[in-house]
Amino acid sequence: MVNFEVIEEYDHEQVVFCSNKEAGLRAIIAIHNTTLGPALGGTRMWNYKSHDDAMKDVLRLSRGMTYKAAVSGLNLGGGKAVIIGDSATQKNELLFRIFGKFVEGLAGRYITAEDVGTSVTDMEFVRMETKYVTGVSKALGGSGDPSPVTAYGVFMGMKASAKYKWGSDSLAGKKIAVQGAGQVARYLCEHLYNEGAEIYLTDINESKVKRVLETIKAQVVKPEEIYSLDVDVFSPNALGAIINNDTIGKIKAEIIAGGANNQLEREDLHGLMLMEKGILYATDYVINAGGLINVASELEGYSQDRALKQAEKIYDVIRKIFEISAKENVPTNEASNKMAEERLRSVGRISNTYTGRSSFSGRLGELFHK
Ligand code: NAD
Repeated sequence: MVNFEVIEEYDHEQVVFCSNKEAGLRAIIAIHNTTLGPALGGTRMWNYKSHDDAMKDVLRLSRGMTYKAAVSGLNLGGGKAVIIGDSATQKNELLFRIFGKFVEGLAGRYITAEDVGTSVTDMEFVRMETKYVTGVSKALGGSGDPSPVTAYGVFMGMKASAKYKWGSDSLAGKKIAVQGAGQVARYLCEHLYNEGAEIYLTDINESKVKRVLETIKAQVVKPEEIYSLDVDVFSPNALGAIINNDTIGKIKAEIIAGGANNQLEREDLHGLMLMEKGILYATDYVINAGGLINVASELEGYSQDRALKQAEKIYDVIRKIFEISAKENVPTNEASNKMAEERLRSVGRISNTYTGRSSFSGRLGELFHK
């Protein structure tokens, strides 16, 4: 059943159902808001329990992309796609090419990228049918792995947090607990180590920890120990919902700054609990925007230097959010939403009938003005 109430509740412009029996494709593309530019967001492939779950996920994630792009100063809107299915067994060229045709049909209102369950190879199949795709391999002019840029943005956001909390943005001598030793954590640890921080590292996968220890020194701890360490900064870079009723009581760090998505188990509660405990929380979707900045950079002809320069600005954005939070006495996650909404309001919502603006340049302009 099409449920307009749900779509209205999330305030979306357009939701597209894509189906092709032969390819076994069932997908939903959600365009949340194109006030600032074309809606960019990845395609997630997941075995959802129900179509309702898929719908909720795509609406929630695409709205999140609007906020992330807006707060990061990007000329992009928010969108996301989900393909319903098992990414381990149901992927093939036809599926992604047919999906690519649907993306092409949106004529640039939505630009896709890889996400959970999809890969660079999948996006290359999508690319055969549409140019409205980012995150393809470097060989095809894409941006490749976004993690170095994400990690640099997290590092900048952590420094801004240190400056706000302690008056200096140096992390030298600071004790930092890093949860996860994956792609983002690996590059982040290098920055922290070079700055002279004391790193405590954990991962459920020992080989990941070993790889990080090839380039830096860190004290390795058990996964369950990471929350209660006597450290200055807790940096979550693994999974979501790790800030919750159970962990907030354990955290001794004065700052939480990490790249993981959806860190607060409950947006409406746990940001407030952190504020009341005096823990400075660098909002996840702001501090980890380097990944989006990286793929967005593809639209102007990819340059990692340019992407890194832009990710550096996360420092200022985080600082501004702390200022809004203090001035308005609201949790930092709420201050981040306010800042994003303010930018959207200042540009003005020109949904549904949006036809593009002349200020875009490069591939972004070319794509969006089509
Ligand atoms: P990754 O898969 O390379 O690394 C995640 C690591 O977390 C893995 O090594 C995994 O073993 C570990 N892990 C899982 N559960 C754990 C637990 N309970 N305790 C400790 N470690 C655990 O992923 P990534 O690309 O480094 O991304 C990390 C986080 O950052 C994710 O939440 C991701 O959504 C987010 N993020 C990543 C990017 C990016 O550019 N890669 C951009 C924005 C946000």
